[in-house]
Amino acid sequence: MVLHSKILNRLLNLMYPRTCAMCGRYIGDYIARGDIQQIVCNDCLRALPRTEQAELRQNETEAVVGTTAAAFMFFEKHHPVQDMIHKMKFGQQPQIGYVLGRQAAIEWQDSELWDGVDVIIPVPLHPKRLRQRGYNQSEYIARGLSEVTGIPVDTTHVTRTRHTHQQALQNSAGRKTNVADAFAVNHPEQLYHKTILLVDDLITTGETVKACMKAMKAFRGAEIRVFALGKAR
Ligand SMILES: [Zn+2]
Repeated sequence: MVLHSKILNRLLNLMYPRTCAMCGRYIGDYIARGDIQQIVCNDCLRALPRTEQAELRQNETEAVVGTTAAAFMFFEKHHPVQDMIHKMKFGQQPQIGYVLGRQAAIEWQDSELWDGVDVIIPVPLHPKRLRQRGYNQSEYIARGLSEVTGIPVDTTHVTRTRHTHQQALQNSAGRKTNVADAFAVNHPEQLYHKTILLVDDLITTGETVKACMKAMKAFRGAEIRVFALGKAR
């Protein structure tokens, strides 16, 4: 068994980076745990641009999405956190989302954001994009949150029906028309009157989340809250 775990760790060390996702510093061999220490060094962990929005008092994220909402970090261009989010989304490193989702839930254990939540729903990708990328980074964030809070993740009731262009390439008006009506729901009656936490990776203009919530109106009587890993500034 010892030999096996040695081989496994060696494989994992080849597969996963052992350098800090923010500053690039070497942070030691990978140990199969899924801890934040596998993703960023302690200096970067301390320096994460936290929003302190766990207490939900009329924060900047709520102002954008128009419902109970919070983001874990601020996302500023040219901040090292931008690199890390880019690796999570486009660099085949979805485990960053899982570990940061887990970290947010650990740090925000007392937040009212999770109170009474029945299901966590990640903003879905279109099946075509999912095939291209191989994973949905928001689902990884949701699974990290779920591990700590014990709230189940649901990926079946909300789907993306329209393949939209990469938002990063568009201006604000373009984003709005691009993403409107991009989502649909299945078996809405199963989520009537539920409390749902919608999870996105990064909120910029909020149009994606708002379009998703528009489709989720079909969940009659449901309360929808929003969690994002990052809020752009
Ligand atoms: Zn670092």
